[in-house]
Amino acid sequence: MAKVLIIGAGGVGGVVAHKCAQIAEVFDDIVLASRTESKCRKIAEQIKSKTGVSIETAQVDADNVPELVALMKSVEPKLVINVALPYQDLTIMDACLEAGVHYMDTANYEPLDTAKFEYHWQWAYQEKFEKAGLMALLGSGFDPGATNVFTAYIAKHYFDEIHYLDIIDVNGGDHGYPFATNFNPEINIREVTAECRHWEDGEFVETPAMSVKQTFTCPEEVGTYSIYRMYHEELESLTKHFPSIKKAQFWMSFGDSYLKHLEVLGNVGMTGIDPIEFNGQQIVPIQFLKQLLPDPSTLGPRTVGRTCIGSVVRGLKEGKERTVYVYNTCDHQACYQEVESQAISYTTGVPAMIGAKMMLEGKWMKPGVWNMEQLNPDPFMEDMNKYGLSWKVIEEPGFDLL
Ligand code: NDP
Repeated sequence: MAKVLIIGAGGVGGVVAHKCAQIAEVFDDIVLASRTESKCRKIAEQIKSKTGVSIETAQVDADNVPELVALMKSVEPKLVINVALPYQDLTIMDACLEAGVHYMDTANYEPLDTAKFEYHWQWAYQEKFEKAGLMALLGSGFDPGATNVFTAYIAKHYFDEIHYLDIIDVNGGDHGYPFATNFNPEINIREVTAECRHWEDGEFVETPAMSVKQTFTCPEEVGTYSIYRMYHEELESLTKHFPSIKKAQFWMSFGDSYLKHLEVLGNVGMTGIDPIEFNGQQIVPIQFLKQLLPDPSTLGPRTVGRTCIGSVVRGLKEGKERTVYVYNTCDHQACYQEVESQAISYTTGVPAMIGAKMMLEGKWMKPGVWNMEQLNPDPFMEDMNKYGLSWKVIEEPGFDLL
């Protein structure tokens, strides 16, 4: 049993807190801290009424290392679950090192002024964490996160060598708004508007954002969607840790209305990340846009439909070529009934809880900085089935992917 400090009380933070509170035999003491403490208190009230469990709350500015260290020293958690924004990853890692606390997150560090999605900033902490006898687990959401574990699981159980990887993320949900993002709008739009990069023959190849698309029919009648190739951070770690991969691509579904709005917003400069002067003050267009858009944590009651996210791997087993697909489908309304959230936050928050559980139970605990695919996928996959994200394997799915 262990005490955890969750930092970030947004859509994902709410789910992580709910799911940890459901497993008292592992997470017996939970503190939820964020910049706005009232959001933590609201989540704490929901948890109390749903599960009867009381969690503590605190206020913290996660950009401020001394403030974080003071909080960690007073709370004395065994592990910090960072579900604030990617901008805070390094300050929270620094504070964990100073306070002697294990670390976990769901998205790689990003500097505010460049949307780069690269791991080198966090991989540079490898020696520091190892020397301190502490573990940092990177990217324990769904994608990255479960998709890395799916890939490692397929590689371990179905192949001698993997050659082609396609990660396909379909959100068949409908929230009824003409334009809204399912997780933090600023992070989402930075990701979607970035140049596309995919791995091919030993290097990343750049193509314009949203320039390659195909049609994908999901299993279990989730539907047929247009999926667009884009860069996603797990491509970097997976191609590093599985050097036999010749080509790796990430695909995400987008509706026509979302893309049309994004195009117009981009054309008028509303998705820009460089500050501009407005009425005597500096504002960042994308941060202003975030204020206008629906808060993702409010989409739960109105979102219907399912997500379908998985990894398709092609490679060799005993000299023969084969293809294996592992995926999960998740129903937005079922998530809302359980933890008052839509499925995007749910599919991120559950793997975050499971990653934390793997560390605290010692199944994944080892000093250093690790990506999900470097650890044994089996206990994580078992827990996905137990805690709300069951998965299926289709051998030879017959997809005709680009
Ligand atoms: P939200 O914007 O809903 O929540 C972020 C929370 O972090 C807010 O409560 C915010 O506080 C808090 N926060 C922001 N800055 C600070 C700070 N300086 N100090 C303390 N708290 C701060 O985002 P989401 O919940 O949608 O996403 C959370 C994380 O999950 C992001 O890093 C995102 O990239 C990641 N993610 C990962 C996915 C995956 O599959 N791997 C998928 C989806 C998301 P306030 O409310 O006061 O602004």
